[in-house]
Amino acid sequence: MVMYDQHMHTYFSPDASETFEAYLKQTTGPIVTTEHLDFNDCYNGGQDTVLNYDDYSNRIDQLNTKYDNRIRKGIEIGYTKDSHQQITDYLKGKKFDVQLLSVHQNGEYDFLQPVVKEKEAQDVMDEYFSLLLEALENFPTANVLSHFDYGIRLFDVSVEDLQDYQEVLKAVLQKVIDNKMAFELNTRSMYQYGNVALYEQMISWYLALGGSSFSLGSDAHSIDYYGFYFGETMTLLEKYNISKVTVFEQQKQKELTLDSLRK
Ligand SMILES: [Zn+2]
Ligand SMILES: [Zn+2]
Repeated sequence: MVMYDQHMHTYFSPDASETFEAYLKQTTGPIVTTEHLDFNDCYNGGQDTVLNYDDYSNRIDQLNTKYDNRIRKGIEIGYTKDSHQQITDYLKGKKFDVQLLSVHQNGEYDFLQPVVKEKEAQDVMDEYFSLLLEALENFPTANVLSHFDYGIRLFDVSVEDLQDYQEVLKAVLQKVIDNKMAFELNTRSMYQYGNVALYEQMISWYLALGGSSFSLGSDAHSIDYYGFYFGETMTLLEKYNISKVTVFEQQKQKELTLDSLRK
């Protein structure tokens, strides 16, 4: 199967230990890894999680001579306003095929840390969705908006609950469109954290606003999750008459038909 998973991590991310070779065995087509860039990483005791670009690049170049240029380069930018300049400085002169834009934290804590569980879901949603909008406004050059629900993974949020945030979420989706980015269907969010219904609501709003670029990403940290529930997700897209997904090569959009991914 030519599964193209546009969100995954190797040992170049501190929270993963998987190798490129193991991912290459999961598909006959190209792969891309999207390693973490999180300055003042609350999840990592406030340290900077910075991808060693030279090592990453060299390793991929080496493997590409052996594996027919099948590996592409990617980065997952953990955005905070405070780290904006550091992110920009880091990216200068570096080449990535795809840049994911993520919000993991608010400068004080990561949204998956236990302290978040003690807060009111409404307050967390208010804060998290505003941070997403801010990230999209301040960093329009990224290619994919990742896991829009990362901040609320610790809560049991229903589609009804989401209606109260319609305005900000539609503004988020409009920015994805204006920035010519793709909206990520994070399959672990959908099928591991049980947020399929929330994603379906976002798909409906996004389509109604004129959006059409979807990115499939499992957020795998090992091969166990490579292409996690992609079959189900593609069937779900077809329910909305969507027959293509978007991938990025040298940050240029390219569309792949769902049929081609199933081969
Ligand atoms: Zn992430
Ligand atoms: Zn990730």
